[in-house]
Amino acid sequence: MTRVIRLPDPLSSNLSHLKASETLAISAEAKRRKASGEDVLDLGVGEPDFDTPLAAAQAGILAIQHGHTRYPPNAGLSELRVAIARNLSQHAGGRPIDPDGVVISSGAKQSLFNACFSLFGPKDKVLIPSPAWVSYPQIVHIARAEPVMIPGEADWGLKVSAKDLERHTDKLVRGLILCSPCNPTGAVYTLSELKAIAAWAKKHEIWIVADEIYGRIFYGDGGAPSFLELPPEDTERLVVIAGASKAYAMTGWRIGAALAPLHLAKAMANLQSHTTSGANQPAQWAAITAFNDPEVEREVQKMVATFGRRRDRVVARFRDEAPGVEFVEPHGAFYFFFRVDGLSGDGPMTGQIFCERLITEAGVALVPGGAFGDDRWVRLSYSVSDKELETALDRIIRFIVKLGG
Ligand code: PMP
Repeated sequence: MTRVIRLPDPLSSNLSHLKASETLAISAEAKRRKASGEDVLDLGVGEPDFDTPLAAAQAGILAIQHGHTRYPPNAGLSELRVAIARNLSQHAGGRPIDPDGVVISSGAKQSLFNACFSLFGPKDKVLIPSPAWVSYPQIVHIARAEPVMIPGEADWGLKVSAKDLERHTDKLVRGLILCSPCNPTGAVYTLSELKAIAAWAKKHEIWIVADEIYGRIFYGDGGAPSFLELPPEDTERLVVIAGASKAYAMTGWRIGAALAPLHLAKAMANLQSHTTSGANQPAQWAAITAFNDPEVEREVQKMVATFGRRRDRVVARFRDEAPGVEFVEPHGAFYFFFRVDGLSGDGPMTGQIFCERLITEAGVALVPGGAFGDDRWVRLSYSVSDKELETALDRIIRFIVKLGG
């Protein structure tokens, strides 16, 4: 006999804006099709296709064997806070960074949550350049603040300028979440652009939450430009989000970090003490090695070089073989964002329709731009092997050409 389960009372209004993550949904659909025997290449992923560097993985195993398996301090192991402070300092032109301002969390996502929940609340507006990573507006909503999406400029890598921000500024604006290198576009803000944005924020006493999780995956010299390269007195209301997930291919270890002024760092650690407590201790030991070990650093450089080569391939093939398709020139992360609304379908072409047809007719999973707030576009992740990338590009370009692109 089937039992009818009555729905319980409505869920709390805390969740009234909550949507499931569309990027995870695409990955699940690609996996489902693969499992049922379909030939599907998944370029919807948001994580490096490399293994965690061996030295870091071994440090995690050793930590377990040596009994580092109890509760860690709420704000993280001091060795890791020091290592991250030193790492951020190195990539930010040597500005001294106080490890007490670094709070370790279970992934950069929790670091972002801690920062937003500690800073923003009812009646506050938080500006978010769009397209934007799926979780920013959701996190702001959970904090009961209002996310205000600011469309990026089409002829400028879909980035926003301080002038764009100024146009949307009023007394209620309390924060900005800025992602550079950007997921989903791969665009990177230059230091002078960051400087202008910092000056705007300082003038209006607005907090900047700078998501620099992709900072190391940059196709210029060293790391991507960072707000930390600006004078401290120009960036007093700044939280920098970093972590082990992307640069060190450690997404499953769940180690993120936030660097904040001391009073905010304390508040974030306190908040965390009542939600998850300190992050997984063996994973923190693995991350200590990741951030400190010169051998791991060499592996990171190799990974970034590989991503760079793949980026060049994607850009070159789109330029040569689909010259009518507009795209954002990627300078960092491992994403390529291209425009599909000019292609012809049965009706107006959207990212959603393009991706649904592409997975069914050509066997490639990409993410519709609508997941990031603009469904005229589609995100491709080149975090797959060179061979898979070439096959996927063959299929995507053939499909685009068929649609008249
Ligand atoms: N910020 C951005 C822009 C991301 O793309 C991601 C991961 N997809 C995160 C934060 C979260 O990183 P983590 O896996 O460390 O929680």
